[in-house]
Amino acid sequence: MYKKRIIIIGGGFAGLSAAQYLSRHKRHVETWLVDQRENNLFRPLIPDAAGGRIPSHNLLYPFLAFKEKYGFNFHCEQVNEIDFSRNEVVLSEKRVAYDYLILATGSQTSIPHSGPYRQFALKLDSIYNADYIRNAVKSGTYDRFVVCGGGYTGIELASNLHNFIKKSGLSTEVIIVELMDKLLGTLPQWMSTYVTRALTDLGVQIRLSTSVNDLSENEVILSNSEHLKKTLCIWTAGLEASSLSRNINADKVQKGRIVVNNYLFFRDNCLAAGDAACCKQNNECSRMSVQCSIDQGRIAAANAIADNRKVPLKKYIMWDPGFIIPMAEGKACGEIFGIPVKDRTAMLFHYLLSSYRATGVSNRFNIARATLKAV
Ligand SMILES: Cc1cc2nc3c(=O)[nH]c(=O)nc-3n(C[C@H](O)[C@H](O)[C@H](O)COP(=O)(O)OP(=O)(O)OC[C@H]3O[C@@H](n4cnc5c(N)ncnc54)[C@H](O)[C@@H]3O)c2cc1C
Repeated sequence: MYKKRIIIIGGGFAGLSAAQYLSRHKRHVETWLVDQRENNLFRPLIPDAAGGRIPSHNLLYPFLAFKEKYGFNFHCEQVNEIDFSRNEVVLSEKRVAYDYLILATGSQTSIPHSGPYRQFALKLDSIYNADYIRNAVKSGTYDRFVVCGGGYTGIELASNLHNFIKKSGLSTEVIIVELMDKLLGTLPQWMSTYVTRALTDLGVQIRLSTSVNDLSENEVILSNSEHLKKTLCIWTAGLEASSLSRNINADKVQKGRIVVNNYLFFRDNCLAAGDAACCKQNNECSRMSVQCSIDQGRIAAANAIADNRKVPLKKYIMWDPGFIIPMAEGKACGEIFGIPVKDRTAMLFHYLLSSYRATGVSNRFNIARATLKAV
């Protein structure tokens, strides 16, 4: 029997959720997963790996193991082109035809194209960079770290990093530089007040209404004229959709996310899910989050199958249980089902959920162990 071929590009939360759903339809569907990496990366815990709280290898799980589990074909390569007119994904050595395509290429740190930022600032989106930061602390290469961006990633990183430095008996400074006049600019004021206090108590320095004006390999110059020598700049200010989704010809919103309809389609037989997709709910894009990505991946896969069978499609309705901003020394804050939570309750919730969502016994165990230490 001819099986329909569904190609998923990107094996993050959305792509793997789609692959898991399709594994139940193996008799009718041949699934391909293409990812530029060999391992799935558990992104929410990268700041913890940079701060030495969780061994970085516990954030990785090989796609080949997922392949065994879900029975898809795996191809490791960065996709740079999709030929929509012929329904083909263009790989370096071949073109692979698809009946349905699910684009789940996620997002990346958005660093300005002009100026020296791309060359000298470090992004926090790989294990390699998390390891680099940890090793730089241990070897005393820098006198200080400047974390550019006072959003949730910058705050998580700065607190974890400062804690790691303190535990290592060092005095390297950690400075958060934020363009707005408060941390967590778009979130409720109580969270901004809470994190500002928690960071200050820890000893993290905060520069508000300030930006990084210039930088080189070892020096950072701030808009308030501070020249910081022997300093590494880590860029956590802003996210944008991955380069593939930004470059393809489709309707997009500001950060390059592809606009999809309520059923997650952006063309006849192409769907997008996770951070790469913008499914508007009450005129706003679905949140870039693990829960939205998992739900969208599953619904995109279900709708590819439903569309092929000509049965009614499933509408995506955003379900957002909330978010937590975990810091060091038992400090954390966030909202769960709209209810404000903070301190150890919030911390416990974050790590237990992370442990539940991680894959592999040893990964789960080490994340749970870090939870007990953190609370
Ligand atoms: C530091 C940090 C902390 C976070 N904390 C939280 C949190 O606490 N809670 C929460 O809900 N969310 C959190 N998030 C957001 C969350 O991680 C994302 O929303 C989620 O990972 C999006 O899932 P995704 O599947 O869409 O994309 P991703 O997880 O980014 O996966 C995309 C995949 O596509 C692959 N890919 C990209 N381009 C290509 C290409 N051209 N060819 C082949 N493969 C490609 C990548 O290698 C990757 O494997 C955090 C993010 C970061 C960076």
